Amino acid sequence: MGIKIVPRHGQSLKDKLYLPAIFGGMKTTFSHFSKNLRNMDNVKTMQYPEVQPDDITSRYRGVHRLTKWEDESEKCVACYMCATACPADCIFIEAQERFDGKAEKRPKEFKIDLLECVYCSYCVQACPCDAIRMDTGIFSLTGSSREEFVLDKKQLMANEQSKGFLKDDKHG
Ligand code: SF4
Ligand code: SF4
Repeated sequence: MGIKIVPRHGQSLKDKLYLPAIFGGMKTTFSHFSKNLRNMDNVKTMQYPEVQPDDITSRYRGVHRLTKWEDESEKCVACYMCATACPADCIFIEAQERFDGKAEKRPKEFKIDLLECVYCSYCVQACPCDAIRMDTGIFSLTGSSREEFVLDKKQLMANEQSKGFLKDDKHG
């Protein structure tokens, strides 16, 4: 049986010097650099946060919001389906009776710990009432304490559906 012996790479003097490879890499880097300098529109980086991305699609999973009826009351019926489906166990719901005829229960409190959340959207998919969504487009969160990342019912209901930088997405 014929055996093809392949010479070991990196054994020649040229390989051992490293300099040809280094100069080859530098040549590629500088050719891109000069090309981009001549045509700045070609540069793929952006000056974030001064420049915000405008290519976030409607399928992007941002920070959650609780959806509302026309009278601004919550659609959530405190069924715990989202909390049960959540793999990170980061949804806390405290239910109370509801008397406005829209449902039997409502969440007295609804909290999501965004430091625990893995943004899987299982909560959205599990909800039978379309009461929780991740279409706010909020992708950047900052805070100086852990508590700031635990959003309560009021904050979740104040979050709006993103309008500014969602592009039409043929998959959306
Ligand atoms: S996105 Fe996933 S991890 Fe985050 S709250 Fe929903 S179910 Fe839990
Ligand atoms: S958000 Fe949806 S799944 Fe979660 S408790 Fe409310 S109604 Fe149930």
